[in-house]
Amino acid sequence: MPHPCCVPAWRGNYKNGPKVSVFSFPKNDALREKWIRAIKREHFSPTKHSKVCEKHFSEDLLTTTSAYDKETGLLIEAELKIKKLKPDAVPSLHPNLPKHFSTTAVSNRES
Ligand SMILES: [Zn+2]
Repeated sequence: MPHPCCVPAWRGNYKNGPKVSVFSFPKNDALREKWIRAIKREHFSPTKHSKVCEKHFSEDLLTTTSAYDKETGLLIEAELKIKKLKPDAVPSLHPNLPKHFSTTAVSNRES
């Protein structure tokens, strides 16, 4: 059973939602703070079970890896079975929200 994504208004890995790769919150305090701010979920503090899915990352998502072959010196690129994030990646995309949610931190939602 894959972990659901904890970003609000998005159904990654939920029943009837898209199947996506998910990532745990970073252990680094400063970076984790950035993630919490970026996903715009109020009164939220992530646990070790909280996950953010690949849909919130753009160029910070690594899908291939490359290494130099020791014998030939050629660069070999391979597709990663399990996607990885850059060490300083921060979720910045909100696929189900209006575009301005992805770029501004200001929230004046009315209920
Ligand atoms: Zn997600």
